[in-house]
Amino acid sequence: MKSHKGVLVVISGFSGAGKGTLMKALLERYPNYALSVSCTTRQPRAGEVNGREYYFVSEEEFRQMIEQEKLVEYACYCGRYYGTPRSYVEERLTEGRDVLLEIEIQGALQIKKRFPDTILIFVTPPSAAELKRRLAGRGTETEDVIAARLSRACEEAAGMEQYDYLLVNDDLKECAEHLHRVIQDQHFRPSCMEGAIEQMRKELKDMMS
Ligand code: 5GP
Repeated sequence: MKSHKGVLVVISGFSGAGKGTLMKALLERYPNYALSVSCTTRQPRAGEVNGREYYFVSEEEFRQMIEQEKLVEYACYCGRYYGTPRSYVEERLTEGRDVLLEIEIQGALQIKKRFPDTILIFVTPPSAAELKRRLAGRGTETEDVIAARLSRACEEAAGMEQYDYLLVNDDLKECAEHLHRVIQDQHFRPSCMEGAIEQMRKELKDMMS
């Protein structure tokens, strides 16, 4: 019996928890995961490329995507809009690929409501001090932005229990392996094996007739 359906995985965590680096480490080791590229109205940071880290769009374009139901979820984060394009997610899941969404908590809860089989994973740094150090260490954010993101982390910490798994991103390689294991285990859920279940039922029926 083999699993056939792709698993939808949401990965959230405080800004600065190292989610981006974790995704990179996971994809380098396991390139078959499909990482969705979100749309955002925030400005690109130095080194970010349109279509790679994000699709950078205007507020007007973002509004149109909402109206045309082109986003599977969206949220406002620190005054900017972020959303997940619907077509990419649906197409990759249909192909049987596991799809990763690196999104914040409001979006995560919208996705879980819409697709109850989604697994929600929260990535946290080992401590609050380490979070601040990582945020400041990026060197791309102003003091104000760092303060806003730490304040947002306080709000997000209140929702950590709503996730299915909590991963501490201390050792990057180890964390990427844990993440991979958690995702692969989901393939053994009956909801991921509907085709195989049907097949087994049919074989048993045929055997009896
Ligand atoms: P950043 O500006 O640091 O790239 O991202 C800020 C936050 O927005 C992060 O917590 C990130 O996970 C989240 N985010 C990125 N893309 C999306 C999206 O498509 N939808 C939602 N809801 N959040 C997103």
